[in-house]
Amino acid sequence: KAKDAGRNTFLDFVPEMNDMALKRLTLSNELRQALPRRELLLHYQPQVALDDGRLIGVEALLRWQHPEWGMISPAEFIPVAEESGLIEAIGAWVIEEACQQAVAWDQLGLPELSMSINCSTRQFLEPQALLDTVRTALRRSGLPPARLELEITETLIVQDIAKTQWLLEQFRALGVRIAIDDFGTGYSSLYYLKRLPIDKLKIDQSFVRDLVANPDDRTIAATVATLGHSLGLRVIAEGVETAEQLQILETMQCDEGQGYLWSRPLPAGQFIAWYRGTYGAPERAGLPQVGAR
Ligand code: C2E
Ligand code: MG
Ligand code: MG
Ligand code: MG
Repeated sequence: KAKDAGRNTFLDFVPEMNDMALKRLTLSNELRQALPRRELLLHYQPQVALDDGRLIGVEALLRWQHPEWGMISPAEFIPVAEESGLIEAIGAWVIEEACQQAVAWDQLGLPELSMSINCSTRQFLEPQALLDTVRTALRRSGLPPARLELEITETLIVQDIAKTQWLLEQFRALGVRIAIDDFGTGYSSLYYLKRLPIDKLKIDQSFVRDLVANPDDRTIAATVATLGHSLGLRVIAEGVETAEQLQILETMQCDEGQGYLWSRPLPAGQFIAWYRGTYGAPERAGLPQVGAR
Protein backbone atom coordinates (compact mmCIF):
# COMPACT_ATOMS: atom_id res chain seq x y z
CA LYS A 1 0.00 0.00 0.00
CA ALA A 2 2.69 2.44 1.05
CA LYS A 3 4.76 1.25 -1.89
CA ASP A 4 1.97 2.17 -4.27
CA ALA A 5 2.15 5.71 -3.00
CA GLY A 6 5.85 5.77 -3.92
CA ARG A 7 7.02 6.05 -0.34
CA ASN A 8 9.89 4.25 1.29
CA THR A 9 8.71 1.58 3.58
CA PHE A 10 10.54 0.07 6.45
CA LEU A 11 10.89 -3.17 4.53
CA ASP A 12 12.44 -1.38 1.55
CA PHE A 13 14.89 0.37 3.77
CA VAL A 14 16.42 -2.72 5.26
CA PRO A 15 16.26 -5.35 2.49
CA GLU A 16 19.32 -7.05 3.96
CA MET A 17 17.23 -8.04 6.93
CA ASN A 18 15.70 -11.24 5.71
CA ASP A 19 14.56 -12.26 9.09
CA MET A 20 11.00 -11.02 9.55
CA ALA A 21 11.25 -11.33 13.32
CA LEU A 22 14.35 -9.14 13.33
CA LYS A 23 12.60 -6.55 11.18
CA ARG A 24 9.71 -6.47 13.58
CA LEU A 25 12.04 -6.12 16.53
CA THR A 26 13.89 -3.23 14.90
CA LEU A 27 10.61 -1.61 13.98
CA SER A 28 9.21 -1.95 17.48
CA ASN A 29 12.40 -0.54 19.01
CA GLU A 30 12.13 2.50 16.77
CA LEU A 31 8.40 2.81 17.42
CA ARG A 32 9.07 2.89 21.14
CA GLN A 33 11.01 6.12 20.52
CA ALA A 34 8.48 7.61 18.14
CA LEU A 35 6.29 9.28 20.77
CA PRO A 36 9.09 10.89 22.82
CA ARG A 37 10.79 11.95 19.56
CA ARG A 38 7.53 13.43 18.33
CA GLU A 39 7.61 11.48 15.08
CA LEU A 40 3.91 10.60 15.18
CA LEU A 41 1.37 12.93 13.64
CA LEU A 42 -2.23 12.91 12.53
CA HIS A 43 -3.65 13.53 9.12
CA TYR A 44 -7.33 14.42 8.75
CA GLN A 45 -9.74 13.38 6.04
CA PRO A 46 -13.08 15.13 5.51
CA GLN A 47 -16.41 13.37 5.93
CA VAL A 48 -19.06 15.09 3.83
CA ALA A 49 -22.88 14.97 3.86
CA LEU A 50 -24.09 13.64 0.51
CA ASP A 51 -27.37 15.58 0.46
CA ASP A 52 -25.89 19.08 0.50
CA GLY A 53 -22.12 18.61 0.51
CA ARG A 54 -21.56 20.21 3.89
CA LEU A 55 -18.56 19.17 5.95
CA ILE A 56 -19.64 17.02 8.90
CA GLY A 57 -16.38 15.92 10.40
CA VAL A 58 -12.97 14.40 9.86
CA GLU A 59 -11.31 11.07 10.47
CA ALA A 60 -7.95 11.25 12.20
CA LEU A 61 -5.41 8.94 10.53
CA LEU A 62 -2.12 8.23 12.21
CA ARG A 63 1.21 8.75 10.46
CA TRP A 64 4.76 7.96 11.47
CA GLN A 65 7.38 10.27 10.04
CA HIS A 66 10.62 8.38 10.62
CA PRO A 67 13.82 10.47 10.20
CA GLU A 68 15.44 7.86 7.90
CA TRP A 69 12.65 5.63 6.63
CA GLY A 70 10.25 8.43 5.74
CA MET A 71 6.50 8.20 6.14
CA ILE A 72 5.41 4.81 7.41
CA SER A 73 1.85 3.62 6.89
CA PRO A 74 -0.31 2.70 9.89
CA ALA A 75 -1.07 -0.59 8.13
CA GLU A 76 2.61 -1.42 8.74
CA PHE A 77 3.19 -0.14 12.24
CA ILE A 78 -0.16 -0.51 14.02
CA PRO A 79 0.19 -4.33 14.11
CA VAL A 80 3.70 -3.89 15.56
CA ALA A 81 2.38 -1.39 18.10
CA GLU A 82 -0.26 -3.92 19.12
CA GLU A 83 2.18 -6.79 19.48
CA SER A 84 4.73 -4.80 21.43
CA GLY A 85 2.26 -3.26 23.86
CA LEU A 86 2.82 0.26 22.54
CA ILE A 87 -0.69 0.72 21.21
CA GLU A 88 -2.15 1.92 24.52
CA ALA A 89 0.27 4.85 24.77
CA ILE A 90 0.05 5.64 21.06
CA GLY A 91 -3.73 5.32 21.10
CA ALA A 92 -3.96 7.66 24.08
CA TRP A 93 -1.80 10.22 22.27
CA VAL A 94 -4.05 10.00 19.20
CA ILE A 95 -7.20 10.62 21.25
CA GLU A 96 -5.64 13.53 23.13
CA GLU A 97 -4.18 15.15 20.00
CA ALA A 98 -7.34 14.73 17.90
CA CYS A 99 -9.60 16.25 20.58
CA GLN A 100 -7.26 19.25 20.94
CA GLN A 101 -7.21 19.71 17.17
CA ALA A 102 -11.01 19.71 16.92
CA VAL A 103 -11.24 22.49 19.48
CA ALA A 104 -8.39 24.43 17.84
CA TRP A 105 -10.41 24.45 14.60
CA ASP A 106 -13.47 25.74 16.48
CA GLN A 107 -11.37 28.68 17.57
CA LEU A 108 -10.35 29.34 13.96
CA GLY A 109 -14.01 29.64 13.03
CA LEU A 110 -14.58 26.31 11.30
CA PRO A 111 -18.00 24.70 11.76
CA GLU A 112 -18.23 22.32 14.71
CA LEU A 113 -16.72 19.19 13.23
CA SER A 114 -17.03 15.69 14.55
CA MET A 115 -13.73 13.88 15.13
CA SER A 116 -13.53 10.19 14.26
CA ILE A 117 -10.73 8.18 15.83
CA ASN A 118 -9.69 4.62 15.01
CA CYS A 119 -9.52 2.25 17.94
CA SER A 120 -7.45 -0.88 17.91
CA THR A 121 -8.96 -4.07 19.28
CA ARG A 122 -6.08 -4.17 21.74
CA GLN A 123 -7.18 -0.88 23.31
CA PHE A 124 -10.49 -2.49 24.21
CA LEU A 125 -8.73 -5.17 26.26
CA GLU A 126 -8.33 -2.56 28.98
CA PRO A 127 -11.80 -0.99 28.91
CA GLN A 128 -11.38 1.10 32.04
CA ALA A 129 -8.09 2.54 30.79
CA LEU A 130 -9.63 3.46 27.44
CA LEU A 131 -12.62 5.03 29.12
CA ASP A 132 -10.33 7.08 31.38
CA THR A 133 -8.24 8.16 28.40
CA VAL A 134 -11.32 9.35 26.52
CA ARG A 135 -12.78 11.13 29.55
CA THR A 136 -9.47 12.88 30.23
CA ALA A 137 -9.05 13.98 26.60
CA LEU A 138 -12.60 15.36 26.54
CA ARG A 139 -12.13 17.20 29.82
CA ARG A 140 -8.74 18.67 28.90
CA SER A 141 -9.80 19.79 25.43
CA GLY A 142 -13.36 20.80 26.27
CA LEU A 143 -14.60 18.97 23.16
CA PRO A 144 -18.30 18.10 23.57
CA PRO A 145 -18.52 14.27 23.80
CA ALA A 146 -21.12 14.10 21.02
CA ARG A 147 -18.49 15.36 18.59
CA LEU A 148 -16.17 12.46 19.33
CA GLU A 149 -16.69 9.27 17.36
CA LEU A 150 -14.74 6.07 17.94
CA GLU A 151 -14.31 3.73 14.99
CA ILE A 152 -14.19 0.07 15.95
CA THR A 153 -14.14 -3.06 13.82
CA GLU A 154 -16.23 -6.18 13.79
CA THR A 155 -13.22 -8.18 15.03
CA LEU A 156 -13.48 -6.31 18.28
CA ILE A 157 -17.18 -6.92 18.66
CA VAL A 158 -16.95 -10.68 18.34
CA GLN A 159 -13.86 -10.97 20.51
CA ASP A 160 -15.48 -10.37 23.85
CA ILE A 161 -19.08 -9.41 23.45
CA ALA A 162 -19.81 -8.82 27.13
CA LYS A 163 -16.79 -6.56 27.62
CA THR A 164 -17.47 -4.69 24.39
CA GLN A 165 -21.09 -4.17 25.30
CA TRP A 166 -20.17 -2.81 28.71
CA LEU A 167 -17.65 -0.38 27.23
CA LEU A 168 -19.93 0.78 24.43
CA GLU A 169 -22.66 1.45 26.96
CA GLN A 170 -20.25 3.57 28.98
CA PHE A 171 -19.44 5.56 25.85
CA ARG A 172 -23.13 5.93 25.04
CA ALA A 173 -23.74 7.26 28.56
CA LEU A 174 -20.88 9.73 28.06
CA GLY A 175 -22.39 10.86 24.76
CA VAL A 176 -19.48 9.61 22.63
CA ARG A 177 -20.56 8.00 19.36
CA ILE A 178 -19.50 4.67 17.87
CA ALA A 179 -19.00 3.75 14.22
CA ILE A 180 -18.29 0.29 12.81
CA ASP A 181 -15.33 0.62 10.45
CA ASP A 182 -14.79 -1.58 7.37
CA PHE A 183 -18.33 -2.85 7.76
CA GLY A 184 -19.06 -6.01 5.84
CA THR A 185 -15.51 -7.38 5.91
CA GLY A 186 -15.66 -9.02 9.34
CA TYR A 187 -17.70 -11.67 11.03
CA SER A 188 -20.12 -9.81 13.23
CA SER A 189 -23.67 -11.08 13.30
CA LEU A 190 -26.65 -8.84 12.79
CA TYR A 191 -27.67 -9.69 16.33
CA TYR A 192 -24.78 -7.60 17.65
CA LEU A 193 -25.85 -4.64 15.58
CA LYS A 194 -29.19 -4.74 17.33
CA ARG A 195 -27.78 -5.32 20.77
CA LEU A 196 -24.91 -2.81 20.84
CA PRO A 197 -25.26 0.97 21.11
CA ILE A 198 -23.85 1.88 17.70
CA ASP A 199 -24.42 5.11 15.77
CA LYS A 200 -22.92 4.63 12.34
CA LEU A 201 -21.84 2.05 9.76
CA LYS A 202 -18.90 2.66 7.45
CA ILE A 203 -19.32 0.79 4.16
CA ASP A 204 -15.88 -0.68 3.53
CA GLN A 205 -13.94 0.72 0.60
CA SER A 206 -13.60 -2.74 -0.94
CA PHE A 207 -17.32 -2.53 -1.82
CA VAL A 208 -17.04 1.08 -3.03
CA ARG A 209 -14.04 0.53 -5.32
CA ASP A 210 -15.89 -1.35 -8.06
CA LEU A 211 -19.34 0.06 -7.39
CA VAL A 212 -19.73 1.14 -11.02
CA ALA A 213 -18.68 -2.10 -12.73
CA ASN A 214 -19.65 -4.75 -10.20
CA PRO A 215 -23.37 -5.38 -9.56
CA ASP A 216 -22.58 -7.57 -6.54
CA ASP A 217 -20.73 -4.74 -4.82
CA ARG A 218 -23.65 -2.46 -5.65
CA THR A 219 -26.04 -4.92 -4.01
CA ILE A 220 -23.87 -5.22 -0.91
CA ALA A 221 -23.48 -1.45 -0.52
CA ALA A 222 -27.21 -0.89 -1.00
CA THR A 223 -28.00 -3.63 1.51
CA VAL A 224 -25.67 -2.14 4.12
CA ALA A 225 -27.28 1.27 3.61
CA THR A 226 -30.79 -0.15 3.97
CA LEU A 227 -29.81 -2.23 6.99
CA GLY A 228 -28.18 0.75 8.70
CA HIS A 229 -31.15 3.01 8.08
CA SER A 230 -33.62 0.36 9.27
CA LEU A 231 -31.71 0.20 12.54
CA GLY A 232 -31.67 3.99 12.82
CA LEU A 233 -27.95 4.30 12.08
CA ARG A 234 -26.12 6.75 9.86
CA VAL A 235 -24.27 5.26 6.92
CA ILE A 236 -21.01 6.55 5.46
CA ALA A 237 -19.11 5.20 2.45
CA GLU A 238 -15.33 5.24 2.58
CA GLY A 239 -12.88 5.21 -0.30
CA VAL A 240 -15.07 7.29 -2.61
CA GLU A 241 -12.87 8.38 -5.51
CA THR A 242 -15.12 9.19 -8.46
CA ALA A 243 -18.27 11.17 -9.26
CA GLU A 244 -19.80 7.97 -10.66
CA GLN A 245 -19.38 6.17 -7.34
CA LEU A 246 -20.86 9.18 -5.55
CA GLN A 247 -23.87 9.21 -7.82
CA ILE A 248 -24.60 5.55 -7.11
CA LEU A 249 -24.18 6.07 -3.35
CA GLU A 250 -26.64 8.97 -3.53
CA THR A 251 -29.28 6.71 -5.05
CA MET A 252 -28.78 4.42 -2.03
CA GLN A 253 -29.47 7.38 0.30
CA CYS A 254 -26.07 6.91 1.82
CA ASP A 255 -25.73 9.75 4.36
CA GLU A 256 -22.06 10.64 4.13
CA GLY A 257 -18.97 10.04 2.05
CA GLN A 258 -15.24 10.06 2.61
CA GLY A 259 -12.50 9.58 0.05
CA TYR A 260 -10.07 11.07 -2.41
CA LEU A 261 -12.99 12.57 -4.37
CA TRP A 262 -13.13 15.24 -1.66
CA SER A 263 -9.62 15.04 -0.29
CA ARG A 264 -6.81 12.78 0.77
CA PRO A 265 -6.02 12.77 4.49
CA LEU A 266 -4.18 16.05 5.14
CA PRO A 267 -1.96 17.51 7.86
CA ALA A 268 -3.91 19.98 10.04
CA GLY A 269 -2.55 23.08 8.30
CA GLN A 270 -3.35 21.81 4.83
CA PHE A 271 -6.78 20.74 6.01
CA ILE A 272 -7.59 24.36 6.87
CA ALA A 273 -6.40 25.42 3.43
CA TRP A 274 -8.57 22.72 1.84
CA TYR A 275 -11.54 23.83 3.90
CA ARG A 276 -11.15 27.48 2.92
CA GLY A 277 -10.60 26.58 -0.71
CA THR A 278 -13.71 24.41 -0.76
CA TYR A 279 -16.15 26.27 1.46
CA GLY A 280 -14.75 29.78 1.58
CA ALA A 281 -12.95 31.48 4.44
CA PRO A 282 -14.86 31.24 7.74
CA GLU A 283 -14.81 35.06 8.02
CA ARG A 284 -16.80 35.37 4.81
CA ALA A 285 -20.51 34.81 4.48
CA GLY A 286 -21.82 31.44 3.38
CA LEU A 287 -20.34 29.39 6.17
CA PRO A 288 -21.69 25.91 5.55
CA GLN A 289 -24.20 24.66 8.08
CA VAL A 290 -22.98 22.16 10.61
CA GLY A 291 -24.60 18.74 10.57
CA ALA A 292 -28.13 18.75 11.94
CA ARG A 293 -27.52 16.12 14.56
P1 C2E B 1 -9.38 2.86 7.96
O1 C2E B 1 -9.75 3.39 9.29
O2 C2E B 1 -10.37 2.00 7.28
O3 C2E B 1 -9.02 4.16 7.11
C1 C2E B 1 -9.27 4.31 5.76
C2 C2E B 1 -8.01 4.17 4.93
O4 C2E B 1 -8.31 4.39 3.56
C3 C2E B 1 -6.92 5.19 5.27
O5 C2E B 1 -5.66 4.56 5.06
C4 C2E B 1 -7.16 6.28 4.22
O6 C2E B 1 -6.01 7.06 3.96
C5 C2E B 1 -7.53 5.44 3.04
N1 C2E B 1 -8.38 6.16 2.09
C6 C2E B 1 -9.20 7.19 2.32
N2 C2E B 1 -9.86 7.57 1.20
C7 C2E B 1 -9.44 6.74 0.23
C8 C2E B 1 -9.76 6.62 -1.18
O7 C2E B 1 -10.56 7.36 -1.74
N3 C2E B 1 -9.12 5.62 -1.85
C9 C2E B 1 -8.23 4.78 -1.26
N4 C2E B 1 -7.66 3.84 -2.02
N5 C2E B 1 -7.92 4.86 0.06
C10 C2E B 1 -8.51 5.83 0.79
P2 C2E B 1 -4.47 4.77 6.08
O8 C2E B 1 -4.45 6.20 6.51
O9 C2E B 1 -3.24 4.19 5.46
O10 C2E B 1 -4.90 3.90 7.33
C11 C2E B 1 -4.99 2.50 7.23
C12 C2E B 1 -5.63 1.90 8.45
O11 C2E B 1 -4.78 2.08 9.59
C13 C2E B 1 -6.95 2.53 8.85
O12 C2E B 1 -7.98 2.02 8.05
C14 C2E B 1 -7.05 2.11 10.29
O13 C2E B 1 -7.53 0.80 10.39
C15 C2E B 1 -5.59 2.13 10.73
N6 C2E B 1 -5.33 3.36 11.49
C16 C2E B 1 -5.10 4.61 11.03
N7 C2E B 1 -4.92 5.48 12.05
C17 C2E B 1 -5.07 4.76 13.19
C18 C2E B 1 -5.01 5.09 14.59
O14 C2E B 1 -4.84 6.24 15.01
N8 C2E B 1 -5.20 4.05 15.47
C19 C2E B 1 -5.43 2.77 15.05
N9 C2E B 1 -5.60 1.82 15.97
N10 C2E B 1 -5.50 2.44 13.75
C20 C2E B 1 -5.32 3.42 12.83
MG1 MG C 1 -11.29 4.23 10.17
MG1 MG D 1 -12.20 1.64 7.01
MG1 MG E 1 -9.28 -0.43 7.28
